Amino acid sequence: MYIDPHIHVVSRTTDDYEAMQKAGIVAVIEPAFWLGQPRTEVGSFKDYFSTLVGWERFRASQFGIVHYCTMGLNSKEANNEALAEQVMELLPLYVGKEGVVAIGEIGYDDQTEAEDKFYRLQLELAKEVDLPVLIHTPHRDKRKGTIRSMDVSEEHKLDPKMVIVDHNNEETVKEVLDRGYYAGFTIYPHTKMGSERMVEIVRQYGPERIIVNSAADWGISDPLAVPKTADLMRKSGIPEEHIKLVTYQNALTAFGQSGQMDEQDWLNAAPLDQTKKMGGNSVLRGGQTPRVEGSSDIVEN
Ligand SMILES: [Zn+2]
Repeated sequence: MYIDPHIHVVSRTTDDYEAMQKAGIVAVIEPAFWLGQPRTEVGSFKDYFSTLVGWERFRASQFGIVHYCTMGLNSKEANNEALAEQVMELLPLYVGKEGVVAIGEIGYDDQTEAEDKFYRLQLELAKEVDLPVLIHTPHRDKRKGTIRSMDVSEEHKLDPKMVIVDHNNEETVKEVLDRGYYAGFTIYPHTKMGSERMVEIVRQYGPERIIVNSAADWGISDPLAVPKTADLMRKSGIPEEHIKLVTYQNALTAFGQSGQMDEQDWLNAAPLDQTKKMGGNSVLRGGQTPRVEGSSDIVEN
């Protein structure tokens, strides 16, 4: 069993969901993020947040995967201050919904003043509602941005054990772990931070508080990055219990602190049943045969 604790499945296909389930992924966490196209209205955020706790959660269930999400205003769109203020008013309505396991992904992109302001406001929100925080660290000036994210989090008196610092690399991992945070690693295909480097990091730092994810979205990314990395670890002689920690258990422990994520959610899940509908909508298209687990009857769509 694997958990992919950072994947933007709204932009992935049903083929991806099928492949993920086949590869052993039992649960995913979808952080609220930007869409490529900048949003111009607060209503777009509202509908997106509703999708994360609504339709996408249902859609994942139709492929045998339990879906959770994190709620937050991403750092890129924090720079549209007028809109960001309205999103901040909206967020409290969503952070308490079923399946919301953290505030995130929040933090810095270009490390502007506006980003700093809304990052701090959301750290306060996380404390108020007692949810973990998922921090997106910038791709440019990574090390500086990562350290700043932790400094500010500590300024706001967050417990590092409640904070997952994501998108680490060899330059950031030591300090993130030393300061008591969870360290997320995103495995992108054709980049520096590939599965091979991940194997070496686990070999060097051990499995404690390290979390592997795909961050797959609408860009060039791989929704099977977690199981593929686990396979490579296995071939490279990393002990099975270490693999389990970094590709399953640590994510569950970290985000389980929300009280919204429990192993029983997938171990005791209702059998997969694609005859189900949400708001009258189904994942099936005309004439397709639904998958129904634990039933030999084939139900016509
Ligand atoms: Zn992301």
